[in-house]
Amino acid sequence: MWRADVFTLFPEMFPGPLGISLAGDALQRGLWQLAAHDIRDQGIGRHRTVDDTPSGGGPGMVMRADVLAASLDASLQKDDPRLRLVMSPRGKPLTQARARSLAAAQGIVVVCGRFEGIDERVIVARGLEEVSIGDYVLSGGELAAMVLIDACVRLLPGVMGKEASGQDESFEDGLLEYPHYTKPRTFEGHDIPSVLLSGDHAKVEAWRRAEALRITQERRPELLKASKEAKKS
Ligand code: SAH
Repeated sequence: MWRADVFTLFPEMFPGPLGISLAGDALQRGLWQLAAHDIRDQGIGRHRTVDDTPSGGGPGMVMRADVLAASLDASLQKDDPRLRLVMSPRGKPLTQARARSLAAAQGIVVVCGRFEGIDERVIVARGLEEVSIGDYVLSGGELAAMVLIDACVRLLPGVMGKEASGQDESFEDGLLEYPHYTKPRTFEGHDIPSVLLSGDHAKVEAWRRAEALRITQERRPELLKASKEAKKS
């Protein structure tokens, strides 16, 4: 079963939003597993210290390599085949394609940073791969880990209502999604586009495709360029 093991200084933040709605129902139905490990369990001394001042000076604190390594080693099997990820604004940006490939694996191990970050040596020594959720800085890796896990979990078999409902979403074919409508037929003087009420599936498909192209061209032209280049190669 797909399983996420999260290493954090704030295990009480989990499952948090992952315990609700789509991901939470799936968790309850046993479609995936979540474990949050408290890095502080391996903290040093009476105060269970997990951080110290940055070598070379500068503001803030850095998470200790020995403490994080001990935490990982205490809770993971040596032959655990899962990728070990660490949330970091320096990492490779998360994409829908990455979420799909992680969802297809047996699960993930995710380390959440706090303070200024994590001693580089443990990132290297435990083969942690840095993953970013975007070009901005959060105060900790927990929300980022939840974003990553949520993106994976909704793609697991059986989690979404219809097996197909992940297929025509934003990014799946290099396009942003077409606009959605539902009842009432008229809202504040605005009607649902008539093609959607025509019952002509081919016309609906064509309209949705055109709208997806238009919206992607307007908002994210670089996605179109990237998908054209991907098709060429
Ligand atoms: N000093 C670091 C930022 C530390 S923020 C730097 O300048 O790169 C504290 C922690 O929050 C990080 O260790 C990381 O785990 C998490 N974090 C912050 N922004 C993130 C982002 N965009 N993506 C993923 N994790 C992030």
